[in-house]
Amino acid sequence: MWSAKRVVCLSPYSIYYYAVNVKVDNLRIVFYPDPVLRRKTQPIAEVDDEVRAVAGRMLELMHEARGVGLAAPQVGLNWRMFVANATGDPADDRVFINPVLSNPAEEYAPHSEGCLSIPDVTAEIRRPVGITIDATDLDGNPFTLTDDDLPARIWQHETDHLEGVLILDRMNPMDKLASRRTLKLLEAEYSG
Ligand SMILES: [Zn+2]
Repeated sequence: MWSAKRVVCLSPYSIYYYAVNVKVDNLRIVFYPDPVLRRKTQPIAEVDDEVRAVAGRMLELMHEARGVGLAAPQVGLNWRMFVANATGDPADDRVFINPVLSNPAEEYAPHSEGCLSIPDVTAEIRRPVGITIDATDLDGNPFTLTDDDLPARIWQHETDHLEGVLILDRMNPMDKLASRRTLKLLEAEYSG
């Protein structure tokens, strides 16, 4: 995990922003406190082969890390896109391009969340229990989904990433205190 992070550090993440062609095989999960995780993303203008290749690589990285969701900033790209899979079954892989959330449930509930970019940190995050999402799929077709529980939570966590928001920003003070040491270690690893 740490060696993968160093690879990302050695290649300036800025190349991903301005490169015409993303080196898809080189994409890796980036870790807190990489500043790319704090940047707002840009909408994807056209769903082309490059977008499809990046989405495929993101799904691969998500499954390797046994995650349920992964947003483009987590692989160093400021693109408005995330991938998700609430079950782990490859048949449930789904790509959300330019997602927009709406109609959050009035009921909120806390649930334990982790983040592939913040290893070893979990926190009880309060979110609306259900939500609707509008997005575009890999064929360029718009779709709308409404769900609750885990899918709704994943969509909200990943859409947060697209705004530069992390679970650290939504933690209660107790979880913040409990994760302080881990975050300091990550910060030291990043700067070192
Ligand atoms: Zn995350």
